[in-house]
Amino acid sequence: MPEGDSVYQATARLHQALAGQVLLRSDFRVPALSTTDLSGYLVKEVRPRGKHLLMRFTPPEDHDPAFKKPPLTLHSHLLMEGRWDIYAPAERWKRPAHTARVVLGVESATAVGFDIAQVKLVPTENEDELIGHLGPDLLGADWDPQLAARNLRSQPERSIGDALLDQRIMAGVGNIYRSEVLFLARLNPLTLIGQVVNLEKVVQTSQRLLEINKNRPRRVTTGLARTREPYWVYGRTGKPCLRCGTRIQQFTLESQSSGQDRDCYFCPSCQS
Ligand SMILES: [Zn+2]
Repeated sequence: MPEGDSVYQATARLHQALAGQVLLRSDFRVPALSTTDLSGYLVKEVRPRGKHLLMRFTPPEDHDPAFKKPPLTLHSHLLMEGRWDIYAPAERWKRPAHTARVVLGVESATAVGFDIAQVKLVPTENEDELIGHLGPDLLGADWDPQLAARNLRSQPERSIGDALLDQRIMAGVGNIYRSEVLFLARLNPLTLIGQVVNLEKVVQTSQRLLEINKNRPRRVTTGLARTREPYWVYGRTGKPCLRCGTRIQQFTLESQSSGQDRDCYFCPSCQS
């Protein structure tokens, strides 16, 4: 599952490569959009919303207002395997062509979405159908920590470890940050939300970690001095805790929201 900061970086690269340019070519290799052609549309912008990527297009000018087309938004979600690459027009792709789902070409670049599980095209005014369920965006201009804390508090019987991945509560935390945030907040992942005294700190820590990493090429939660050990607990099963030396443990945490169970890492001493 990608983290919000990876999606933020992917959208920034796409925006840089495409925004302000007219599409010369579009090729959708998903059944629902196989006949769609966006050539002539202007790429207005590419923006992240939590872990969702929104590419907004302005339609070509039409002399006959009766045929006026609406602005469109291409929505994609990278899920586990998906990624967007950007190539020079004649450059050879680094991934197998049969895994490409979307190809968008402007004069100076070609953007290719590989293995993207969810691709949808909607009128921009209907974007909310796709992203309206999301809670406040940790890296968004409208980030609202009080609302995020309220959303958490409204589910007292749920474990904090499960809730942090629920994008309806707040959008942007993936599996890596979940483990790291809970370590920094000294919370066992199975602690029920109703028993967490300082939910604001959990929310603030999540936002701070994403914010400091949003433009970094390599994610680090332990601080710059520790780049050899970028994470406190994530992926460190059996290794000594960087704070207390206890061996880090891992277990699979059931997810109520996504139905996808993910490994969670924690220090049994620091997070007891
Ligand atoms: Zn520890």
